[in-house]
Amino acid sequence: MREKECIIKLSNAFGPSGFEDDVIEYAKTQVRDVCTLKEDHMRNLYMELPAEEKETTVLLDAHSDEVGFIVQAVKPNGTLRFLPLGGWDPKNIIGNKVWIKNKDNELISGVVCSKPPHFMKDGEKGKSIDFDDLLIDVGATSAQELMEVYRIGIGSPVVPAVECEYNEKQKTFMGKGFDCRIGCAALLETMQELDSKKLHTKVVATLTSQEEVGERGMACAIHNVKPDIVICFEGCPADDTFEEPYMIQSGMKKGVMLRHFDRSMITNPRFQRFALEIAEKYGIHVQESVRKGGGTNGGITHTAYEGIPTIVIGVPVRYAHSCYGICAYDDYREAVELAKHIIEDISSQDILSF
Ligand SMILES: [Zn+2]
Repeated sequence: MREKECIIKLSNAFGPSGFEDDVIEYAKTQVRDVCTLKEDHMRNLYMELPAEEKETTVLLDAHSDEVGFIVQAVKPNGTLRFLPLGGWDPKNIIGNKVWIKNKDNELISGVVCSKPPHFMKDGEKGKSIDFDDLLIDVGATSAQELMEVYRIGIGSPVVPAVECEYNEKQKTFMGKGFDCRIGCAALLETMQELDSKKLHTKVVATLTSQEEVGERGMACAIHNVKPDIVICFEGCPADDTFEEPYMIQSGMKKGVMLRHFDRSMITNPRFQRFALEIAEKYGIHVQESVRKGGGTNGGITHTAYEGIPTIVIGVPVRYAHSCYGICAYDDYREAVELAKHIIEDISSQDILSF
């Protein structure tokens, strides 16, 4: 129950890139009793398990931000122009309800609208849509009302207005932001389950900000931790509803994804092999993947210092980077098990051999 509640709360938390405060505040309540906590000015949260001096450090990471939007301009009629924070297809947001965080930290409901068919000129119908064609409407009738009554202005952050639901029968979650909140949940749970375990290495965890706009939080965090290896949790895009069966590499309810390659990183093959062997030893379901696109915080960590061996443990999320995603409790659970067993079994000697 604790885990499911944590996943739901994290999915619901307001936290587009650069505005992760609510996610961090909630995360702290989950690990306060088992970790020492520290923050930096980018809102990266650092969590450390108590331990004596160790030769090596493992960093466990998940990014705290979700894809969202930011208000670009207020139109005289009281509607808002906006830009994406992170990778969005504008088609995926039209007609959806959103929450805008105003100057008093209240969430104001709005709807993303495009020109209705009634008012379209010849040639406008069927045309591809860009963010410049879209508006957010909260129901105001003037810019003054929007700014003075609704207290919304340029720079106000926005997320899809979605409340997470858990389906007991299917053991699936439907909600927003599972990239990477399902990873955040796995990270917080792993730290709690590692509490008071005898480990061969020091363990530090980070919830890093601004991954969706170019791994900016990790660019800062890596210098504060200086780890010897990194395990990144990700809510990775599930491919099982679009791909041919032989191409499916991150299907929901098929276990965690271990990524060999994406646009940002070729995974250290020695660390990857170690992770695959641990999965086999403990009967954890793994999907190996080679992604044409994509990128993670591993892109930053694996080239830092002397090259820090990094793996990515992905929990498949259907329809990532849209308003609603679906992911499975069992996949999340296998991500926790895999990270936990890697950290419990790994020695400093193993790490130095990667
Ligand atoms: Zn992500």
